[in-house]
Amino acid sequence: MSLAGKTAIITGSNSGIGLGIARELARAGADVVLNSFTDRDEDHALAAEIGQQTGTKARYIKADMSDGDACRALIEQAGACDILVNNAGIQHVAPIDQFPADKWDAIIAINMNSAFHTTAAALPMMRKAGWGRVVNIASAHGLTASPFKAAYIAAKHGVVGMTKTVALETAQEPITCNAICPGYVLTPLVEAQIPNTMKEYNMSREDVVKNVLLERQPSKEFATVEQLGGTTIFLCSDAAAQITGTTISVDGGWTAL
Ligand code: NAD
Repeated sequence: MSLAGKTAIITGSNSGIGLGIARELARAGADVVLNSFTDRDEDHALAAEIGQQTGTKARYIKADMSDGDACRALIEQAGACDILVNNAGIQHVAPIDQFPADKWDAIIAINMNSAFHTTAAALPMMRKAGWGRVVNIASAHGLTASPFKAAYIAAKHGVVGMTKTVALETAQEPITCNAICPGYVLTPLVEAQIPNTMKEYNMSREDVVKNVLLERQPSKEFATVEQLGGTTIFLCSDAAAQITGTTISVDGGWTAL
């Protein structure tokens, strides 16, 4: 399937899942806009590398997804948005009575509120273009809970709810809105949780991966960024034109349990 002529904006895409999705969208022919809150040479170099490899226009635009105005400015600055992938996200793990309020606010802002602002700014562009796809990267934690992740789980459940509402508001237009719910994917966000867990449980890295991280993932394998890119491309295809307001789990069976 070719996405030539489409512009895709992927929030939080200088690393991990967002970068993987951006690479797959560009391989399918879309012009991609990478994003994060930094403005380093390596951020722009990533976009240049993707553009060179795929022959598409790839750009990097700095915007802090914790700031609503910056979210909207990202879409405006891109100038077009046929495919919006709301992916930026952070994590913090603590019991709720010890959960730092600033971490709560940051997680709700980056993982949930940003999707409200970008979607609000992108929908008029999609309507004008007569086609659009909103793909929200939620989580298995948008459908189920675990202890110590109150903010993340609240934000991801919120994203799943917003996905349904946006789908209903666009149901009679050639626009869809869906959420992908990954289980564990080995990215810097997950990698960062390993050392503390090793310490906490006095376990080897291998044991943490198998018995803690992948405890609830029946496949006992991480999902990959390429698989999430492929799922995004499917949601952009004609075959998925009537798929809207739903969640697609890429979680090795986690939510089947
Ligand atoms: P990651 O840390 O590799 O990537 C997060 C991205 O968000 C980075 O590009 C980072 O720069 C960006 N980001 C962080 N704060 C930002 C801000 N204020 N403004 C703009 N960009 C910002 O993590 P990841 O694992 O690739 O996570 C990507 C998304 O996938 C997140 O929403 C996460 O919740 C979700 N997710 C991840 C997993 C997993 O196992 N890795 C599972 C389910 C869902």
